[in-house]
Amino acid sequence: MADSNRLTTTAGAPVPDNQNSITAGAYGPVLLQDYQLVEKLAHQNRERIPERVVHAKGWGAHGILKITGDISRYSKASVLQAGKETEMIARFSTVAGELGAADHERDVRGFALKFYTDQGNWDLVGNNTPVFFLRDPYKFPDFIHTQKRHPRSNMRSPTAMWDYWSLSPESLHQVTILMSDRGLPKTPMNMNGYGSHTYSLWNDAGERYWVKFHFKTMQGHEFYTNAEAAEIVGRTREGYQEALFGSIEAGEFPKWKFCIQVMDEADAENMPFNPFDLTKVWPHGDFPLIEVGELELNRNPDNYFAEIEQAAFSPSNIVPGISFSPDKVLQSRIFSYADAHRYRLGTHYEALPVNRPKCPVSHYHKDGLMNFFGHSAGSPDAFYEPNSFGGPVQDEAAAEPPLRVSGDAARYNHRVGNDDYSQPRALHDLMTQEQRARLYSNTAEAMQGVPQEIVDRALGHYDKINPAYGNGIRSALANLAGHREAAE
Ligand code: NDP
Repeated sequence: MADSNRLTTTAGAPVPDNQNSITAGAYGPVLLQDYQLVEKLAHQNRERIPERVVHAKGWGAHGILKITGDISRYSKASVLQAGKETEMIARFSTVAGELGAADHERDVRGFALKFYTDQGNWDLVGNNTPVFFLRDPYKFPDFIHTQKRHPRSNMRSPTAMWDYWSLSPESLHQVTILMSDRGLPKTPMNMNGYGSHTYSLWNDAGERYWVKFHFKTMQGHEFYTNAEAAEIVGRTREGYQEALFGSIEAGEFPKWKFCIQVMDEADAENMPFNPFDLTKVWPHGDFPLIEVGELELNRNPDNYFAEIEQAAFSPSNIVPGISFSPDKVLQSRIFSYADAHRYRLGTHYEALPVNRPKCPVSHYHKDGLMNFFGHSAGSPDAFYEPNSFGGPVQDEAAAEPPLRVSGDAARYNHRVGNDDYSQPRALHDLMTQEQRARLYSNTAEAMQGVPQEIVDRALGHYDKINPAYGNGIRSALANLAGHREAAE
């Protein structure tokens, strides 16, 4: 038998029998010395790792980012220079559903990208929406509790969702997108991706620019209605996996146009809105999209668990020429994403093949559970820094320009002085009559079973966005009530 075809234990010894356990006599009992059986059963007990608290259900593929535009005046990052091609991996996801949730549910979609650049991994961990439900990280655990199961009923709770949203008007912009056609894309290929946060770029001269990242689908926006999605979920819960995996297997590689919006550093002070507020977009009219390149997904993973379940994206992964901004929610994610991976995957999660940078890695973080990468700092005597044994040292050339801050450290009320209505109004008003009708009916459907006082509180906000929006939802609610009565 060829060595490569021989079944072995995980220690490499040949397995003579993978069908019959070793017993004392023909009927048993089983002997503890049957280590191959013990190993098999023990491995099965450990086949699951904690699922992500959010974005548990996902689909992903490998691909390439090609840069065509010249934005060297904004960024020195090698990954962003014209002509550059960088291998990458993408993972799309729903936010609320657990690992086994159906793909075609109305939800925001995660749009996470890891670029294996020659200066380290750059991760852009965004969504298919340019904004989010909140602007202060204190709100994130509370918001996610409303999306997950009720502690007593263990069911999803529309009451919790609308109670929270109606008490948090900064969420209205994102809720409008969620209840619009974009809240239920047909496939991962039919949606845009956004970095969502404001990040920064910095150039060779040490000048910083604020930036928004956009990936615009080249397959076109396509969506399902709630009724169409319910019918699909009745047939398959894996519609996104089938679409993405199937398309790439068939050689049809999905693509996105990569664009940025840029704001001069000093201009942030003079904006009529806070440009670091995650519930706000930068209007295209003031900050036109600059085309930078193209993203293509062209290779399915060979092992879903190893390459997608273990893929660990974190906004903390930046490279020289790309950096953070004062966005408070981004600041919190710099901590919380890497922390989630240490919990789910272990201390050395970035050494796993899918997460490992494709450039040289030299650090002193060696001990801890599962060091399987040996000693990468050259001499074995160089296990601390500074040392006299040729170990890795800092490179001052990678230092970024200082992030300018002003004002006192304090808790600023994030609801004071913020206009939560104008941008959802702009979005509502650009929709066609048909799109608005679906927005109203999707919102009304999502409100079913919610106490009237909470619905009324939410409608008060919709009236402030545009009375037509509030009234549209009222009529859709009345329609649903009429249908219910007719059915009873
Ligand atoms: P524009 O008219 O220049 O841009 C409108 C944007 O809205 C387009 O990018 C379009 O995307 C997108 N859009 C259309 N329908 C929907 C929908 N149902 N859900 C989400 N996005 C949709 O106007 P402004 O830049 O002044 O923005 C107006 C409003 O558009 C904003 O308040 C915001 O809600 C929304 N928007 C703005 C974005 C931005 O970065 N400025 C990005 C996405 C949405 P596409 O071109 O792909 O059709």
